[in-house]
Amino acid sequence: MSRKSITILGATGSVGSSTLDLIDRNPDAFSIEALTAYRDVEGLALAARNSQAKLAVIGDESLSGELADALSGTGIETASGAQGICDAAQRGADLVMAAIVGAAGIRPVMDAIEAGSTLALANKESLVSAGAIMTRAAKERDVAILPVDSEHNAIFQCLDPTRPERVERIVLTASGGPFRTWDREAMRAVTPERAVQHPNWSMGAKISIDSATMMNKGLELIEAAHLFGLSPAQYAIVVHPQSVVHSMVEYVDGSVLAQMGAPDMRTPIAHTLAWPDRMETPCERLDLTAIGRLDFEAPDTERFPAIALARAAMEEGGAKPAILNAANEQAVAAFLAHNIGFLQITGIVAEVLDRYTPPAPGKLDDVFAIDREARRYADEAMEKQAA
Ligand code: NAD
Ligand code: MG
Repeated sequence: MSRKSITILGATGSVGSSTLDLIDRNPDAFSIEALTAYRDVEGLALAARNSQAKLAVIGDESLSGELADALSGTGIETASGAQGICDAAQRGADLVMAAIVGAAGIRPVMDAIEAGSTLALANKESLVSAGAIMTRAAKERDVAILPVDSEHNAIFQCLDPTRPERVERIVLTASGGPFRTWDREAMRAVTPERAVQHPNWSMGAKISIDSATMMNKGLELIEAAHLFGLSPAQYAIVVHPQSVVHSMVEYVDGSVLAQMGAPDMRTPIAHTLAWPDRMETPCERLDLTAIGRLDFEAPDTERFPAIALARAAMEEGGAKPAILNAANEQAVAAFLAHNIGFLQITGIVAEVLDRYTPPAPGKLDDVFAIDREARRYADEAMEKQAA
């Protein structure tokens, strides 16, 4: 059988390197078409050599010479810039792993869809901001979107696609993040270094902060609505601190199907790489007797207002999810740079959602314009608060 060709957008990140780890263990099953990264030349060059990629692309154009030097004599083609990343996505592959963080992933994800590649989607922000446009394009080209996010991957595995009308509710589980039991006063003083320490998952900085504010679960509500198409009221969130049950689907007869596993992203990633088949992984096996008990509790939207903000944005639709996402990206970056406090993140997002009310985006360029303007509003709100 011929090997499945894979392109990884965001190959040096947490999801990207877990994907490479699985591919490395299965050299007969996969080949690498292209790898992209933003600034990590060394990590990208190493990954490209190890995986015998055909093409390596660095997003930051000023690093293009460095990448070419690092790969000279290997026969691996190199390119750079945001356009270089889009070109890599457009080349097509059997499967494109979309693992860039943030709205920077929108254009390359659309390019991968337009090239007709099966899409393994980790980059939830692209779906939050441009979900309607993206899912429409995927449908037109008959492109499968396979969710990598553990919750959505769980739902995908539990969902009977032939009977969507028999689903009553989808329940997303949430770990609750590092501050699950903290009150707002205690959260006020947390540093970025503390907030990135997730109890169960090892992830990139941005999603780790989103998990701490629980905006991650909010973004996931909107992501789920685009992927699975039920009404907003049919999506619920349950806090489950052990991160063993990755999400659930409830049917009209009272049956609840859940997907479980140890919290290791390589399981959902492997599911998308091998789909519709399955592949072996080195992931720890679930030992329920060692875990002993599984706990569940209702989310607290007073302590974690991000969940309520995202739900409102999902219900209102239009430009709101793109605004929520852009303002959140801007505020998280400012928090990571020690420019604002932890509680200000959701405060800024709320303010931008309130003040900025453009019409719904009809095309991708509208999404980019809304994204830019929402970031400007967020910067303004942060300057005002600092004064
Ligand atoms: P990360 O920060 O570890 O990696 C991000 C990758 O994107 C890197 O390769 C980086 O070089 C690249 N990148 C960053 N900015 C870029 C830009 N402007 N242009 C081009 N490339 C850029 O992030 P991650 O934790 O791997 O997360 C990636 C995506 O997957 C996010 O959307 C996240 O929400 C989602 N996700 C991650 C996990 C996880 O366990 N890490 C789980 C579920 C979903
Ligand atoms: Mg998730």
